[in-house]
Amino acid sequence: MTDTVSQPRLLLRRLHSVMGGDGDAQERLDRVVRVIAQNMVAEVCSVYLARAGGVLELFSTEGLKEEAVHLTRLQVGEGLVGLVAERGLPLNLSEAPKHPRFAYRPETGEDMYHSFLGVPILRHGKVSGVLVVQNVAARQYMPEEVEALQTISMVLAELVSSGDLVNVDELSEDATALGQSITLTGQALVSGIAAGVAVFSKPQIRITKTIADSVREERQRLEDSMAQMRSQLDEMLEHPDLAHGGEHREILETYKLFAYDRGWQDKMRDAVASGLTAEAAVERVQQENRARMAKIRDPYLRERILDFEDLAGRLIRIIQGETIDARQQLTEDSVLVARSIGPAELMDFDRRYLKAVALEEGSSTAHVTIIARAMGIPVMGQIPGLLTHVDPGDEIVVDSAHDHVYVRPNEEVMEGYREAVKIQEQLFAEYAAELNLPAETLDGERVELLMNAGLLADLPSLDTTGAEGIGLFRTEFQFMVSPALPRVDEQTKVYSAVLDAAGDKPVVFRTLDIGGDKPVPFLPREPEENPAMGWRAIRVALERPALLRYQLRALLYAASGRSLSVMFPMIAEVAELKKCKVILDKELERLKKFDKVPPREIKVGCMLEVPSLSWQLDSLLTEVDFLSIGTNDLMQFFFACDRSNPKMADRYDMLAPSALSFLHMIISACDEANVPVTLCGEMGGRAVEAMALVALGLKKISVSPSSIGNVKRLLRSVNMNQLRSYLVEHMRSPDHSIRDSLILFAKDHGIKI
Ligand code: PEP
Ligand code: MG
Repeated sequence: MTDTVSQPRLLLRRLHSVMGGDGDAQERLDRVVRVIAQNMVAEVCSVYLARAGGVLELFSTEGLKEEAVHLTRLQVGEGLVGLVAERGLPLNLSEAPKHPRFAYRPETGEDMYHSFLGVPILRHGKVSGVLVVQNVAARQYMPEEVEALQTISMVLAELVSSGDLVNVDELSEDATALGQSITLTGQALVSGIAAGVAVFSKPQIRITKTIADSVREERQRLEDSMAQMRSQLDEMLEHPDLAHGGEHREILETYKLFAYDRGWQDKMRDAVASGLTAEAAVERVQQENRARMAKIRDPYLRERILDFEDLAGRLIRIIQGETIDARQQLTEDSVLVARSIGPAELMDFDRRYLKAVALEEGSSTAHVTIIARAMGIPVMGQIPGLLTHVDPGDEIVVDSAHDHVYVRPNEEVMEGYREAVKIQEQLFAEYAAELNLPAETLDGERVELLMNAGLLADLPSLDTTGAEGIGLFRTEFQFMVSPALPRVDEQTKVYSAVLDAAGDKPVVFRTLDIGGDKPVPFLPREPEENPAMGWRAIRVALERPALLRYQLRALLYAASGRSLSVMFPMIAEVAELKKCKVILDKELERLKKFDKVPPREIKVGCMLEVPSLSWQLDSLLTEVDFLSIGTNDLMQFFFACDRSNPKMADRYDMLAPSALSFLHMIISACDEANVPVTLCGEMGGRAVEAMALVALGLKKISVSPSSIGNVKRLLRSVNMNQLRSYLVEHMRSPDHSIRDSLILFAKDHGIKI
């Protein structure tokens, strides 16, 4: 072991000369395996290589029974070797046979070996095999040993990629076998519908040479390339697509700072000093980052590591002398396909041809989502199996309306897609025609249609959709993408920008709804059994009043001389709201003390998203200027049904008679008390639901910008009085839902649902 750690360069050289020596590929592999076993002081060293059909075959071993070679085969995901391949990450165990995934193969005789260290052999980012060392003694391998084995596996990948051991075509045959049309399901992160050929961001990187001829020259290559990368990033930030300010700019500025990160640079320099080429050194450090990332749950830190992934890929391409201008590579409509990508990667593609992004991971607050939203590119994320099913050049349709991605769509799907695009274009034309018309029913009932927002990048939608204001501004996004608690002046800047952009249109700011399933980097987090019902939103704010105080201060500063509407999330009882109001009053006092100009008027409201509050409406409605019904949470608690569990997504319907009666009770109470009430959950953005809600008496709805056109078009086609009597009749039904009856009514009465 001492050899491997202290003299990595010697070992790499030795491996390289063995790999390039006499004999066929199998003989050379056998010799390599012996050298590794010797250097790692391991009783066993084995190499498993990927074959067609997701099979890992034992290709060579030192220590296991000879007869197992080419006989022992495991599926990806089967046994410990399969687990390493499945995760693409090292596995270090002192008691391998006790691991639940241990799969004993009698022909290998491996049950006597207690400790196990397996690392993936990665080729172009894909697992092409697994390298394993084992020892009889039960011991945990040291981090340096894990690193050494990872470096060795990179060198081994060179031998594998020669194609002499496993024909490269064999592995791609697998993908062609999958050549049929398939439909994958995901989550719409930026809405839209688009089609194009699949382009991958990662396969451009091909490391063919891992061992340096001259450390000095490699160091120079690394330094020169780092300098070049930094100047390219400066240029990128000048891009016209990013001209207007917003959090996307901040994200890219921070990303740029990482290019100057000393820790990262030093690690790469060390890797070069150990004998790797510059590109192998970058990749080596990145492998370590990936392994770390797999363990990190904190979404903010995960995003930061993605930034490094993006930077590393960029740096390797520069080292290899590729022009970064991947723009020229797109010559037709394309869909960018990846597991997850960093924020700057989008900028490498020609916006004219980049029609959509499909990601295996991704989330609504992922950096790339924020940038894509600012650039108007549809994004689908959380698509399991995407990378297994898509090959570069495959035709792909991204359909966010149905949360689907169609891969190699057949003619029928393409027909449907073309039809959907045509319908969408017609709809957009209709929305545009109604842009400046009021959301008014045929019998003259006026509904105020507002939009939900959370990013500065959302604000241009105020004009493009004709929204009458912002009914819900979720302030938490700024906190979720920031490494530290944003300072009062930083918060003020964002809130001022929102008010500036809204002009005369009203804006309702909701104070922080963080904690639970919306973690922020600067608050300690303890695992919770039920985060949605746990330490979140106002519960955090009242326990850490400084957080709320500073936010209210920033809101007051931002609204100086203007109108301010502020509301509090997750209020479960009137007493909580009163505490919030006391804090707001103190901040107002403070404002006066410092002679600052207060807002022209202040309206205080709260979210109704916890059912208990509905039984305190009498006293609540004397305390608030307005109420906002958050059906996303309210309904999950009403039905005791987790809103983020896909298995439960269709279990209960918000158009259930019980849910509608409940909402009716709330809306009527607000009407009687003369307190304006808005609904700001996703429910309001869906056509049939919106129709039912207005029939229940709702006069204000706040929906995502992409739903405004549709809801307005619908409302302008309804005769509300007719619908109202129909609804009242059906709300007494004992059925699971009255959706079908409402759809029937809409069809019979020419309502545009
Ligand atoms: C809601 O719960 O309906 C809501 C609008 O809040 P959020 O989706 O941010 O929890
Ligand atoms: Mg909520």
